[in-house]
Amino acid sequence: MTATQLDPAFVAILSCLYCGAEVAQVEARLVCRNPRCGRRYPIEDGIPVMLSAAAEAPMSEPSGQERP
Ligand SMILES: [Zn+2]
Repeated sequence: MTATQLDPAFVAILSCLYCGAEVAQVEARLVCRNPRCGRRYPIEDGIPVMLSAAAEAPMSEPSGQERP
C-alpha cells in the first residue's frame, strides 16, 4: 500500500485547526505535531482534508472526553 506523498512545501503551510501547530505527513494522514493535540487529518486523492469534521482525535484520548 502506497500513500500519496504530498509536496513538503505545501504541507509546511498547513496548520492544525485546533491548535495551529505544524502538521506532518505520516503515511496517508497529516498529523498535528503538537503532542498535546495530535489531531489527524485524512488525505483523500492527494488532497489533505483540513476539516474539523474529518479530523480524528488522537488514539490516546478516551472517547467521550472531548474538550470544548
Ligand atoms: Zn493540533
